[in-house]
Amino acid sequence: MSNDRYRVMEVAAVPGWDDEADVVIAGLGAAGVCAAIEARLAGADVLVLERASGGGGLTSSAAGHLYLGGGTRVQKAVGVEDSVEDMRQYLIHNTPEPELDKIDLYCEQSVNHFDWLVEQGVPFNDTMFPTKHVLQPTDECLIWSGNEEVWPYREHARPAPRGHKVAQEGEHGGSKMMEVLITRAQELGVRVVTEAAVTELVRDGERIAGVRYRSFDEERGVHARRGVVLATGHFTGNDEAIREYCQQLADERVHRQHTPADDGSGIWLGLAAGGEALHMGGALITCPFYPPEQLLKAVLVNREGRRFVPEDSYHSRTSAFITQQPGGVAYLIVDEKIFARPEWGGYEVVDAWESVEEMEHGLELPPGSLVETLRGYNEHAARGEDPELHKGAKWLTPLDTPPFAALDASLGRNAFVGFTLGGLRVSAEGEVLRPDGSPIAGLYAAGACASNIAQDALGYSSGTCIGESTFFGRRAGRHAAGAR
Ligand SMILES: Cc1cc2nc3c(=O)[nH]c(=O)nc-3n(C[C@H](O)[C@H](O)[C@H](O)COP(=O)(O)OP(=O)(O)OC[C@H]3O[C@@H](n4cnc5c(N)ncnc54)[C@H](O)[C@@H]3O)c2cc1C
Repeated sequence: MSNDRYRVMEVAAVPGWDDEADVVIAGLGAAGVCAAIEARLAGADVLVLERASGGGGLTSSAAGHLYLGGGTRVQKAVGVEDSVEDMRQYLIHNTPEPELDKIDLYCEQSVNHFDWLVEQGVPFNDTMFPTKHVLQPTDECLIWSGNEEVWPYREHARPAPRGHKVAQEGEHGGSKMMEVLITRAQELGVRVVTEAAVTELVRDGERIAGVRYRSFDEERGVHARRGVVLATGHFTGNDEAIREYCQQLADERVHRQHTPADDGSGIWLGLAAGGEALHMGGALITCPFYPPEQLLKAVLVNREGRRFVPEDSYHSRTSAFITQQPGGVAYLIVDEKIFARPEWGGYEVVDAWESVEEMEHGLELPPGSLVETLRGYNEHAARGEDPELHKGAKWLTPLDTPPFAALDASLGRNAFVGFTLGGLRVSAEGEVLRPDGSPIAGLYAAGACASNIAQDALGYSSGTCIGESTFFGRRAGRHAAGAR
């Protein structure tokens, strides 16, 4: 899939406009629909162009977690104490290159954003899912969806669960949210054209003044009186771009999760207009070994027989560490007390042994390595300590009850999945920025085609993508509506 078909055209070359609106939005996913609602609420005439035959985007496949905190209605109802400052510190410390102005806004206005979503009709139950899980199978709302309780993050901020799932059972929270928000946008008078793939931006002097889109065999132009918002999603499905920018996902042992529209069109359009892209090598990669949560009491070792990550880390952090081990090889070591089969992802049992020595030999680990790792681990775990990797005390128990088993946690042996996190450099108002930091007049981006908070798998918390898509989508829509 070539990226150079996404271009900028000078207005003089445009044969004529077929339509016009104050704000033109490319893409009707989480970011696009929130931009549309806010622009419309600000009084703008809004037209959304959607490439697929209906809205929803990748968001409709999402579980529907949103990372929100600082004392939301749900947090208060279930007795969770949280503060803006704790949320802020957490996000600052788990982000490789935090953009402080955006993190500040996101945390300060998180409760307000939750309330806004509720006002639009998005349902959240005042409940908390009780165990450590990847995705609650119920319609319960709050879940630990990041590394808040994990070392070193717990040292920087008081931990609080902040994953808010839209009230829908299992994996259908994202589609529920999109159904509600698209209905709301249309009730407000947002116009939507489907089967409309934006392929070109139109420049008038220094300003982006419209777009050209393709619908089946026809090409059309739309004049944007105030602004164009790019909300076209990830570039996970673009082989060429993945090879060029995102080595982690170029690995064929990782299955890329994407829709047919995830070619990164918004990113290439923004670059063609003079913008810059950030964190294009960043990706969410995961292959959870929990639930059940008792497996967090296991020990994860590489092919040298050494531990490399606190096993109570959030699943994407653990998975990213596995991909960095020699050969991508890792084993989850359990004893009889904690043995269980992971609910997701594979993790075949390699074998079971009566002693650690036999297991070490059976896994072909360096002589003495696993024996020494488990001896040290067990000695400290008996005291509720883990001086090596600081696993949380509630997950520490000596693994000393035979038989012992090893589950294959290696890359290539399990269903590692992932998607991109990089996107256009934008201001906190969603303006697309040039490398010198100046905004491109009339051009905005939000959601997965922009870079705001999520940057890599090591620090990722579930809910950040939809959280930031909706939050910064709203800001982009509002600012575009007010732009002259
Ligand atoms: C299985 C799975 C589960 C996930 N669960 C969660 C979760 O629970 N919480 C979370 O925070 N994140 C989750 N994510 C990530 C999250 O879904 C996305 O990051 C987020 O939905 C992106 O929203 P968006 O609006 O930017 O893009 P999308 O929702 O993909 O919307 C983009 C829209 O733009 C359209 N489009 C593309 N190109 C063009 C074009 N040129 N012209 C016109 N239209 C175009 C597309 O068709 C699409 O409708 C999950 C991802 C996966 C794969």
